[in-house]
Amino acid sequence: MRGHDGHILVVGTGIAGLYVALRCRELGLHPTLITKSQLDEANTRYAQGGIAAAIGKDDSPALHLADTLRAGAGLVNRAAARTLVFEAPARIADLVRYGVPFDTIEGQIALGREAAHSRARILHAGGDATGLSIEETLKKRVLDAGIEVRERTALRGVRPAGRDGVVALISTDRGRTVEETEPGPVVLATGGAGSLYRQSSNPSIATGEGVAIAFRAGALLTDMEFIQFHPTVFWREGAPRYLITEAVRGEGAVLRNESGERFLVGQHRDAELAPRDIVSRAVEREIQRSGHPCVYLDATGIPRDRFYGRFPSVCRFLATYGLDPSRDWIPVTPVAHYMMGGVTTDLEGRTSLRGLYACGEVASTGVHGANRLASNSLLEGLVFGERVARQLVHPVATSLPVPGRLVRMAWPSGDGRGDPAKSFDRVRDLLWDDVGIVRDGGHLRSALDELGELARRTEPRRASDVPGPVANAVLTASLIARAALTRTESRGAHYRSDFPQRRPAWRLHIGIVRQDVPARRS
Ligand SMILES: Cc1cc2nc3c(=O)[nH]c(=O)nc-3n(C[C@H](O)[C@H](O)[C@H](O)COP(=O)(O)OP(=O)(O)OC[C@H]3O[C@@H](n4cnc5c(N)ncnc54)[C@H](O)[C@@H]3O)c2cc1C
Repeated sequence: MRGHDGHILVVGTGIAGLYVALRCRELGLHPTLITKSQLDEANTRYAQGGIAAAIGKDDSPALHLADTLRAGAGLVNRAAARTLVFEAPARIADLVRYGVPFDTIEGQIALGREAAHSRARILHAGGDATGLSIEETLKKRVLDAGIEVRERTALRGVRPAGRDGVVALISTDRGRTVEETEPGPVVLATGGAGSLYRQSSNPSIATGEGVAIAFRAGALLTDMEFIQFHPTVFWREGAPRYLITEAVRGEGAVLRNESGERFLVGQHRDAELAPRDIVSRAVEREIQRSGHPCVYLDATGIPRDRFYGRFPSVCRFLATYGLDPSRDWIPVTPVAHYMMGGVTTDLEGRTSLRGLYACGEVASTGVHGANRLASNSLLEGLVFGERVARQLVHPVATSLPVPGRLVRMAWPSGDGRGDPAKSFDRVRDLLWDDVGIVRDGGHLRSALDELGELARRTEPRRASDVPGPVANAVLTASLIARAALTRTESRGAHYRSDFPQRRPAWRLHIGIVRQDVPARRS
């Protein structure tokens, strides 16, 4: 991009946004951070299990790569995944330099095991408070570095401005007034879309707005059909959907139905440590079959001291419901957890729009393919965040991956008369009921029809008005449903009961772009 003056707008204050801002500052740029919420309210804060990196004696980036490729079910971008695993140790060293207090054993960083990892390679902090430790450490560094942070300031849109980058439309009052920035680079670090599902592990900020905003501006999206469901989230009527980290199973906990049977044994050779999609579907099937609202995580075989030392936050949470995991089984159910796809980027975080960058969960770098390997997502935010920061200082030319199938999606205009709260609730029900763990053409089509109706009521009346958060939620939900309807096979986290097999012809990525936009870099 031509001569930006060093001012960069970074949107989002999770691991990706905080890290990009810090690195930009260290490289001599002038980042401004905005977040629609408070500085530390982000998915990142809730990450428990940890962050993956091949730093153990018996481990190597090549083994980490092999596990990542296997989990991604044939759709991982190998170059991106190589970048992820080979640059992981350096990014962990950055976190240590910033002061993240990773747990240690005898002076060495302690490494845990999680599902589908062939080695113990999960670094953690505060036992099961890894995300919180990272968020707090990076937040402090950002404030110490004097980086300007604007809380409760939402990105509402971006507009391409040719060789000068993009203009950002930002608002502090839910869109009633909108401020336009000077053209320049904008980094989307707006996270995922999990809370668009009625049952979700994500906090309410995770509404996939970055995806909708990028799509409206004409950016290419990929892999939107791949939503990961997490199999073990605490279940009790009226209780929050608190995640019971996979690392609990890594330490030896097993899943049982209400009769005490380990129903995953015999379904997959790794049983409870099988990839998340397999475990989530097995749990969902068991719940459907039994009519019982949950299954149980049995951690009673893990010595009490070890469990309480490794998972203090989980134990504190369970204690509020009178449960002691060394004695009681933990009721769990699957929920929406992670968005594998998003705004398509190259290895430097560049999107198809000049001057618009993306990293973290909002980006589709291709490292996760059809299914994310546990604990690779915090890492992705760092590795590609670093690349975005360097790219802003020393641009290098690389090409954007070209999707094997391109969907051009039209989007209706609206009358802005819909009730925002009711429309948002309806989106969450539609995604959970019709675009969930098990999908089929009939339900996907009817969800898309109803989302189209919702769009006609939530999109603003005048084309010049900036769409609000609920219109963006409807759009992101539609993008997920549209991609899911297009993929007539089952692969990774995307399961179609009407097309239950994986099909070689579908070993390709689905791209989505606005109907009137050519899918190439502007
Ligand atoms: C319960 C839970 C446990 C997890 N455990 C792990 C784990 O152990 N290991 C792992 O690797 N991953 C884990 N994950 C996933 C991981 O936490 C996320 O993928 C990662 O934190 C995403 O980071 P991010 O910076 O991309 O986005 P986030 O941390 O979600 O931050 C997004 C930011 O963007 C802001 N934002 C969004 N839209 C706008 C807008 N329009 N305008 C302005 N600001 C906006 C938000 O307010 C927020 O500040 C877990 C996730 C959850 C929910």
